[in-house]
Amino acid sequence: MEPRAADIARWWQLAPVGQVVIDDQGYILQVNHTLSDWLSQPASQLINQLASSLFTVESRMLYQGVMAFRLTDVGAVDEVHLCLHLDNERILPVLCSARRLSTKETPLTLISMLPISRKDQLERDLLDARKEAQQALSEKSEVIAELESMRTILESRNSELHRLTMKLGHEARSDPLTGLPNRRHFDLALQERLAGADAYRHSNDFSVAILDIDHFKPINDQHGHAAGDQVLQALAQLLSSQLRGNDFVARIGGEEFALLLPDTSIDEAVGALERLRCAIEVHHWEPVPIIASFGVTSYLPGDTCESLMARADSALYVTKRQGRNHVTQS
Ligand code: GH3
Ligand code: MG
Ligand code: MG
Repeated sequence: MEPRAADIARWWQLAPVGQVVIDDQGYILQVNHTLSDWLSQPASQLINQLASSLFTVESRMLYQGVMAFRLTDVGAVDEVHLCLHLDNERILPVLCSARRLSTKETPLTLISMLPISRKDQLERDLLDARKEAQQALSEKSEVIAELESMRTILESRNSELHRLTMKLGHEARSDPLTGLPNRRHFDLALQERLAGADAYRHSNDFSVAILDIDHFKPINDQHGHAAGDQVLQALAQLLSSQLRGNDFVARIGGEEFALLLPDTSIDEAVGALERLRCAIEVHHWEPVPIIASFGVTSYLPGDTCESLMARADSALYVTKRQGRNHVTQS
């Protein structure tokens, strides 16, 4: 069905876009209801006004500079962003498209204006959202950087703590003069070996010995305490170099050293200690030669740290009583 001219005229009035028809000079000839509603002016007031007067001052320049120029040039303009000047200083952003209409008489131009206030609002919302996201991101980066620096501080404190703990642990277990394990460390090693011996009865062949330097006091008395210290340090080195990898040697008192010889029967232990005694005897000592006495014992089922040390000590006592520089087993 062909629409009637009256219907088309009504549709023109009610179109969801503002529309004007202007003449060659830019004067409004027709304006639809939609546009006159936006402008709150009846069509009769708008007709014969310059179309450019509908826009804000900035948009007028764009209208005249871009729209009018392109219309003259190519007869069509699409989507120029202009602002309508409504009442009370309100503005309405619109996208203007225009077409020159060929008529027999004077050339006319149809301008359609699509409101873009919602688009503007959406863009503003989008910008705000992006700003917020950037803000949140930079705050997050700051927090991450702060956490990172705290982590670095924590790590360095941790490693310092670890270093101190190791140092303290080492100091608690070593003899500062010779660097050998101390009495405490020897007792721990012996307890550990005893626990092993109890758990694996077949591997209980181990021996414990005590070495005491003979007539050490006169060295201090005649050559000074520092000379005595030097002898103790040199003996520690000699013991470390003479013993096997698994053997454990500690300085447990002034001029007393204890030895833990794993997987070593009493006979093997006596042999090893005899070799050690000879090595001490023939070593070149400063300031004077030294000799040493030994007491040795082997593990017996039911032994404790104390019982083993007491047997080794009484064997040493026998050596001392019998003239020193000798190995006694118990
Ligand atoms: P014995 O043959 O009976 O073992 O006699 P000794 O002189 O070796 O034993 P004594 O127990 O009479 O003397 C031990 C000496 O060891 C006394 C002490 O001053 C000395 N001494 C203990 N610790 C150290 C130390 O760290 N450095 C020095 N230089 N001397 C020490
Ligand atoms: Mg002594
Ligand atoms: Mg002694």
